Amino acid sequence: MSENDSAARLLLPWHKAVRSELSRRWRDQGWPAALLLEAVRGSGKLALARHLAMDALCAEPVSQPNGALQACGACRQCLLMNADSHPDFIVIAPADSRVIKVDQIRSLTDFAYTRPQVSKRKVAILDPADALNLQAGNALLKTLEEPGSDVTLILLSEQRSRLLPTVRSRCQYFRLPKPALAELNDWVAGRLVSGKSAATSKHDEVLLPELVAAMTLAYQFSPWRTLEALRADGHQQPVLMTVMETLAACVEGRQDIFAGAQVLAKVPVEELLDLLLWVWASVFRLQLSEAAASEADQTLAQSSALKDLQTLVTSLESEAAETAYQALLAFRQQFNEGRNPSVPLFLEASLMKLREGRRNDEKAGKPAAVRPVDFLSALTQSQQLLR
Ligand SMILES: [Zn+2]
Repeated sequence: MSENDSAARLLLPWHKAVRSELSRRWRDQGWPAALLLEAVRGSGKLALARHLAMDALCAEPVSQPNGALQACGACRQCLLMNADSHPDFIVIAPADSRVIKVDQIRSLTDFAYTRPQVSKRKVAILDPADALNLQAGNALLKTLEEPGSDVTLILLSEQRSRLLPTVRSRCQYFRLPKPALAELNDWVAGRLVSGKSAATSKHDEVLLPELVAAMTLAYQFSPWRTLEALRADGHQQPVLMTVMETLAACVEGRQDIFAGAQVLAKVPVEELLDLLLWVWASVFRLQLSEAAASEADQTLAQSSALKDLQTLVTSLESEAAETAYQALLAFRQQFNEGRNPSVPLFLEASLMKLREGRRNDEKAGKPAAVRPVDFLSALTQSQQLLR
């Protein structure tokens, strides 16, 4: 199975309880006409939706200890689902562009109003519903207003505010919980070891638990994005390290600002914004935290994975980190509003300001006085501040 395939099919360990809870709810209340599942990109929500669809279509679902009914995995319905050829199940996704078009919703409507062919119910997944254009959204609304009694639509969304309010209001809403950090890190580490494209020796040098933890946070607890970033290019270090390295080098004057901006501008802009946001929130938090300023511990300062973050923490004035963070939020808003602000100009201006914000007292440049355990908990808290 390819990684993309796994992401679409593999039920993540921390989604098992969610599946069970939703299946139990619907055994009592009947399957909803429409369900809206919200979670970040790469969270595995398509795989969860497929498992829920199997539970709905299975002919002989098995009772679970909590009262949920889950697919047996062996009946004809389940076999058809596993073979991707169940006639009462469809996944609607953008075809040749980034949007779901009105024609696709028309075929969904036909699907919704014809009788099931081999099961008692039908299930359609919209992946993602954020990709509905206005026309398609309005067409979907008609189906949602008068749904057939034997159909369930599962809308997947990264950000439900992007959906039409009238569409949102007609769906049962469920936000997927985030996994525990330790559980997620273990899972990522396990996939890296078992995967075909397992870490190269270059990777092994830098794949310290601290880095994996930092990446999990920077990618907003998204297991598949974290894995993708770790595997993106077997010969290069993870992009988060490149970002931290470039920022630290520019602040300390070891790298030219324009060259630094060019390096950063090569990262896909949405990913860059996520990573920068995490870096500045972490720096800000670590500078604030009293725990982070306590007893010296060289372990982390010597850790090659996060030393550049330490450099930023110790060599920047706290106002500089805060200013960088605020500027980034403003830039991201412009970007999200589709105003196409210039990425290189923004980066150059930011790096320039950061260099001006370098501390010039005797504390600057000293190794970080941070215990690893405090450091990790501070990282976690910095992420919670962002929520
Ligand atoms: Zn079955």
